[in-house]
Amino acid sequence: SKAKGRNSYFLFTQQMSERIAQRLTLESDMRRALKEREFTVYFQPKVDLASGEVSGLEALVRWVKPDGIIVSPEDFIPMAEETGLIVPLGEFVLDASCKAMQVLQGVGCSALTVAVNLSPIQFGQEDLVEMVVANLERNGLPASRLELEITESTLMTDVQSSVAQLNRLVELGITISIDDFGTGYSSLYYLKNFPISTLKIDRSFIRDITIDDSDAKIVETVVLMARTMGIGVVAEGVETKEQLDLLATFGCATVQGYYYSRPLPLEKIIEFLLGKNGV
Ligand code: C2E
Ligand code: CA
Ligand code: CA
Ligand code: CA
Repeated sequence: SKAKGRNSYFLFTQQMSERIAQRLTLESDMRRALKEREFTVYFQPKVDLASGEVSGLEALVRWVKPDGIIVSPEDFIPMAEETGLIVPLGEFVLDASCKAMQVLQGVGCSALTVAVNLSPIQFGQEDLVEMVVANLERNGLPASRLELEITESTLMTDVQSSVAQLNRLVELGITISIDDFGTGYSSLYYLKNFPISTLKIDRSFIRDITIDDSDAKIVETVVLMARTMGIGVVAEGVETKEQLDLLATFGCATVQGYYYSRPLPLEKIIEFLLGKNGV
């Protein structure tokens, strides 16, 4: 068993060094990809449930490798956060989103807001607000067209400075959504203490909404609470007509999910918008 122990020790260290090597490769790959402009931004519509009209878009980053393979953000955002690469990457996403808004304006969709996901690491940057303002100005856009999606973990890190940063962004006219609502530790605390305009109910609550009665009750209650507080509410991950119909009976204002559209490149989203809203 001593030999076995030693073997498993070797196996362990070998796995560890493999993982470290993988991480280093991913990190240098990402640095190269940023330089070579392999990142791109897809957009997914947020749809007003009552009218069926698109009220906004969410920007979601994609890594398109030279061989055409598309890497999911779930596979590189954590590493981007660990290495700090999320800062230039996040700025790229914001810039691409602002440019997309200009293109949308050109095709008559000038009322659409675009929501950009903000990492806690970006939130920790002292010049975050300046960076956002500079980007909006450079692209000639009013702050009201931009929405920022943050998670509870973003706010958890440093409550005092987070409130200050959020207030500055909100004073500029930017709206703030709480992403993945319900998955954190103290969602209600944030609703009470931060200037939040919308909450996005996490997909995990929507998935079984038509078969799991407690999920349905949670969602119904969150929708009611948001409405009572005068906060917007978006149901994420809506995939079926049945989910949509149930959300309608709950009075949920906005939905997002594959039922309407997957995240798509800007050209495809424009086709979708022109077909749908008839502008
Ligand atoms: P998220 O912000 O919660 O984004 C929603 C995710 O759910 C997206 O995955 C979207 O493609 C997916 N989704 C939307 N509708 C449906 C549906 O009906 N069914 C299912 N199964 N999935 C749906 P995606 O694009 O892979 O992004 C994953 C996560 O990566 C995002 O979750 C967000 O946390 C992060 N992320 C993506 N882009 C960025 C970015 O530019 N910056 C930062 N900081 N994070 C990003
Ligand atoms: Ca989001
Ligand atoms: Ca989400
Ligand atoms: Ca998520």
